[in-house]
This record gives sequence, structure tokens and C-alpha cells, in this order.
Amino acid sequence: MSAPPTIQQLGEDIVNRIAAGEVVERPASAVKELVENALDAGARRIDVTIADGGRTLIRVVDDGWGIAPAQLPLALARHATSKIDGSDLLNIHTFGFRGEALASLGAVGRLSLTSRRAGEEGAQITVNGGATTPTRPAALSGGTVVELRDLFFATPARLKFLRSDRAEAQAVADVMRRLAMAEPFVAFTLRDASGGEDRQVLRVNAETGDLFDALHGRLAAILGREFAENAVRVDAERDGFHMTGYAALPTYSRGAAVAQYLFVNNRPVRDKLLIGALKGAYADLLSRDRHPAAALFVSCDPQLVDVNVHPAKSEVRFRDPALVRGLLVSAVRHALLTAGHRASTTVAD
Ligand code: ADP
Ligand code: MG
Repeated sequence: MSAPPTIQQLGEDIVNRIAAGEVVERPASAVKELVENALDAGARRIDVTIADGGRTLIRVVDDGWGIAPAQLPLALARHATSKIDGSDLLNIHTFGFRGEALASLGAVGRLSLTSRRAGEEGAQITVNGGATTPTRPAALSGGTVVELRDLFFATPARLKFLRSDRAEAQAVADVMRRLAMAEPFVAFTLRDASGGEDRQVLRVNAETGDLFDALHGRLAAILGREFAENAVRVDAERDGFHMTGYAALPTYSRGAAVAQYLFVNNRPVRDKLLIGALKGAYADLLSRDRHPAAALFVSCDPQLVDVNVHPAKSEVRFRDPALVRGLLVSAVRHALLTAGHRASTTVAD
């Protein structure tokens, strides 16, 4: 009989690598974390470059408020965050809060973080598969540059699960489009530098005007003029929940559920409840093989929704799901019917 095993505390490197498996599934999840960090830092312009589907390179440049040199090591430390103090997990207003993304990315790839805060010198810190180098001075006019190379080199098993570079690059573009819809006042670019080339994949300028104007402009830029011209404004409120955005007329429906963008407190989500409600709103307006197109934003007091369900945070849990469902259905139906009514009176006169 072999000796029974003893229990050992795992080292920090291996803990980070295991955790990275949950936070960073593929290059697109790394891009999401890095762009969200830029948005949390108040960036007005975010430029992303990837190569080989994000496997060999992901670079995110922002003009946000940056990180002070002395804080750079903490930015890479696990469970270190400037976004919550731990006292109120129900009251989260930023994209991030777990303090895991940079630690995880540095555990499974080669990450360099260069940043400059106003009034301070620029500085850089790097981490390769969990091994951190000391902070050193670096020239930068402001903001933050995160460069992530060779994602998953330290976890070859995960590397094997990636899809083709093309599929991974598409997933990155999808993440960027969703975040760009959520933040119409911020300028975004996505470039693909595979094979030494430099191809522009996405470019949206900062929108102006009120939020509805800005969103309309942003949706036109991302989903196309045709969507924007066929979309009606959704704006309704009930019991502390606000439902805003644009829903396309039934005549602009799609053959697949490809143009359904849902956000909770400005966070892109893939939530079954909301997707089901959207379908329900068009139930008697579309045949079964057609799918509505919409970009809808639910906002509420952070206390009424738990975003802490999954590390990748694309799932949420509402305190009162039936209320949210009912609001979405009635808000969208009201918008479509009012538009339909307006269209028919215009034809009549
Ligand atoms: P979280 O976003 O959950 O706090 P991260 O690991 O993503 O955790 O980031 C750790 C910390 O590093 C953040 O709380 C923030 O203070 C800082 N940080 C990360 N990226 C940026 C950035 N682009 N600009 C300014 N600060 C940043
Ligand atoms: Mg973060």
C-alpha cells in the first residue's frame, strides 16, 4: 500500500495559473479585461493591437489617469485593487473589482505594464509567467500601455484549446464592439498586426451630444447605417430599473441572433433572461426563424443586481428577474408600436 498523501499549500505562481484559467479563457477575455481597466481609469481613447488572433500580441494603449510608479507591483499582485475596499460588494460601479486580471495575465503570458500618472515619472514593470522584474523608469507622455505577449505560453494545455487565429481575432473584435457600444463617448481602434502588417479592424471616434444621440451614432458606426435607420428609441422606467437603447423594427430582423447586444449597468452581458425577454417582446411580430436586432441597456442601483456571479462577469443575477423581464418586454413593445403607429399615420396623410 502506498503512503497516504499529505496536504500542501500551493505556491502563488500555481494559484495564479489556476485562477487564470477562470478569468482568461482566450485572447478575447484578455482584451476585455485590459480595455475595461482602461475605461475604469477614465480613458477617452483606447487603441488595441493584436497579432495572430491575440496569441502572440495584445497591446492596449489608453490615455487614462495611469498608475504611480510605487503602485506598479501592486497592480500585478493578486487580489489587489483600487476599485473596492471590500466593505461593500453589492455596490460596484466599475468594470473591475476582483484585482485578478493583471495577476492572471502575468501568470500565463509575458506582460509589461508601462504607465505614467500626472505629476509623476513614467515607469514600467514586467512579469513573465509569474516572474516579476523590479520597476524601472520608462518614457511615456501619460496613460497606460499594457503589452501581453505569448498568452498561455506558461499553460500549454490551454494554448491547445484555442481556435484558429481568425476565430480568435473575431472574438476579440466582438468584445471590442460590445465595449464600444457601452462607451460611445470614448474613441476606440482595433488593429491587426499579424505577419508584420497593420490592418485596421475597427475605428470609432468619440461621439458627442446627449446619451441617446451618442449611442445612435455609435450604433450606426458599429452595426451600420441600416440598423440605425430602422431602430427605434427605447426608454422606460419601473421600480428603480431603467431600460434604454435602440430596438430595430421587425422588418429589419435577422436570420440568426447575431445583432442582440445587452448591457447591465453598462456591462456587456450574455444573459438568458434578457435574451429570452427580447425574443418575447417580438414574439407575435416575427416568424420563428427570424431574430430581432437591438442594443438595450438595463440600469439600476448596483444593489439590485449581482455581477459577482462569474469571474468573467458576463452573467448577472437580478433580485427580481420577473420585474426586469416585464420591463424589457413592455418597453420594447411600446417603442415598436409607437413607431408603427407613427409610420402608418405618415403614410395616411
Ligand atoms: P481590477 O480591475 O479588478 O481592480 P486588475 O488586475 O485588472 O484588477 O487591475 C489591478 C489594478 O491596477 C486596478 O485596480 C487599477 O488600480 C490598476 N490598473 C490596471 N490597469 C490600469 C489602467 N489601464 N490604468 C490605470 N490603472 C490601471
Ligand atoms: Mg481589471
